[in-house]
Amino acid sequence: MKQLPAATVRLLSSSQIITSVVSVVKELIENSLDAGATSIDVKLENYGFDKIEVRDNGEGIKAVDAPVMAVKYYTSKINSHEDLENLTTYGFRGEALGSICCVAEVLITTRTASDNFSTQYVLDGSGHIISQKPSHLGQGTTVTALKLFKNLPVRKQFYSTAKKCKDEIKKVQDLLISYGVLKPEVRLVFIHNKVSIILDSFISICMGNLKLRMIKGIVLYFTLCSLQHYLQ
Ligand code: ADP
Ligand code: MG
Repeated sequence: MKQLPAATVRLLSSSQIITSVVSVVKELIENSLDAGATSIDVKLENYGFDKIEVRDNGEGIKAVDAPVMAVKYYTSKINSHEDLENLTTYGFRGEALGSICCVAEVLITTRTASDNFSTQYVLDGSGHIISQKPSHLGQGTTVTALKLFKNLPVRKQFYSTAKKCKDEIKKVQDLLISYGVLKPEVRLVFIHNKVSIILDSFISICMGNLKLRMIKGIVLYFTLCSLQHYLQ
């Protein structure tokens, strides 16, 4: 018996965490929600295999944290396992971004409220920064994953039929609808190959102060100011 090389262990463990396009989208949306985003745009190209992009208007990542933001087991959400008792976030293991870097090419553009401009970071397979440059995006974070599973031909092979690819889009759509139910106050947009995908039976209406989210005809949410307006 021989111990596997570290790079192989890394790839195998990352491919257990990132198993599909929908698992990338789920991890990135949860990071956006943990960052307090009220607006999340999910864009896919070629069913997500060429490009997955999740943009949010959350708190952004501080420049001082950027060198470790995608390094495995670095997290801003807990300090030790004792904090698990009072967990208020979706993430806490610090594994998602590092795993995505291992199976795709990743760019992260981010800006906090105290930054003068956003910065786009290009990451390597182990989540370290290769290069960085100023960018024009506003506050929040955009994570772009290109060429998913480029180094895992077996995983890519699984999606070789049009049906499997279409099923994946449906899964992303269903995932977004689930978050729409859970977080009705968050604006969610889903675009595939530059075409907006209607989030089935999921309607958000903004009319002045009134903001409604309806799912299957049931009003789930309307803004507090509207509520006060109705109560007066
Ligand atoms: P985890 O969510 O378990 O902490 P991740 O690998 O998903 O691990 O993310 C690592 C860290 O990067 C997070 O703890 C957070 O500090 C930061 N981060 C990731 N995505 C975002 C985002 N969209 N907005 C702000 N910070 C983010
Ligand atoms: Mg996370």
